[in-house]
Amino acid sequence: MNVISIVGARPQFIKLAALHRALTKRAGVKHRVIHTHQHYDPNMSAIFFKQLEIPEPAYLLDLTDRTLAANISRMQEGITKILAEEIPDMVIVYGDTNSTLAAAQAAKKLSLPISHIEAGLRSYDNSMPEEINRIETDKISNLLFCPSKIAMENLVAEGYGFDKVIFSGDVMFDAIQYYLPKAIGSPNLTNTFENFVLATIHRESTVQSPKALTQIVRALNDINKKTRVIFPVHPRTRNAITYTGEKIDFDLVEPVGYLEMLSLLDRCTLVLTDSGGLQKEAFFCKKMCVTLRDMTEWKELVHAGVNIIAGTEYQNILDAFELASTSHPSFEHNFYGTGNSAEIIIDAIGRLLAT
Ligand code: UDP
Repeated sequence: MNVISIVGARPQFIKLAALHRALTKRAGVKHRVIHTHQHYDPNMSAIFFKQLEIPEPAYLLDLTDRTLAANISRMQEGITKILAEEIPDMVIVYGDTNSTLAAAQAAKKLSLPISHIEAGLRSYDNSMPEEINRIETDKISNLLFCPSKIAMENLVAEGYGFDKVIFSGDVMFDAIQYYLPKAIGSPNLTNTFENFVLATIHRESTVQSPKALTQIVRALNDINKKTRVIFPVHPRTRNAITYTGEKIDFDLVEPVGYLEMLSLLDRCTLVLTDSGGLQKEAFFCKKMCVTLRDMTEWKELVHAGVNIIAGTEYQNILDAFELASTSHPSFEHNFYGTGNSAEIIIDAIGRLLAT
């Protein structure tokens, strides 16, 4: 079986790592990676390949004009050329980034079978580019691997059949089970931090709104007066915060590697974020999460009381922080499978290719 994974952004490297580990245990599987270079800073890309022990990409798109690095049609062009030569048995795409959609569209153009990892998620907010990327990728994929039961229900409600829709559980749960013990065991800078909350913001819809960003920064400044706020900052967010002119009292640090992030998650008191992945990782580490968006695609976490949707208004963030600080919900839920999602995915791909 000749499989090509296509990734380009930080959260995809983590999902890829879980798949790759499982694929290497299978006989007769050739697995190679195309990296679109959507994320190219070493601390957003190379460090993940090293820490997560993912082999060097077989292909790295050379999008010389960095401002166009995330441009879907440019990426699609580059990926199509590679896939047309390789003709793999299966193309695997991950999540909801521009690289996901570009890769799926390139494979579709060549009539290659596509597996979408993390299919069926819906925030029902079409102003988020991620939502459009998910919907369009699901439409053209042959296998739709759902991380949660709600993701499955979303797809069934949209008319997809069980020939395509498969509950795999979440490969990020596979990943954290393997890497968290390594993160806790390895000495690194973040292992020394004590009594802090962990914050991240990077979604385009938040970062492109100076009003939202200003209110978030002011709320984090106030929270920081009570509990230290550590904020590993995405380059796009740093630029946007600087642009608002707001004074920053909390700790803005450079983006950290995955192991350092897991160590921060393990040690923090709670998480404030607009990240999709971090909402689940907070749950995996039994930490309350305040979500700095108006909605989430991980609705089961909200229903379970472990995630509070705060939006981006100053007072709502402070109220949600207070509520989260005094909440003690149960984290004993099994929403995302049992840690063998990658195995389920590979078995299903094998079955499809055998027909
Ligand atoms: N992450 C990381 N270092 C950071 C920030 C995030 O390793 O400085 C990890 C985080 O633990 C999660 C993933 O990157 O696994 C999430 O990526 P991001 O928030 O960029 O994207 P999203 O999940 O919203 O798609």
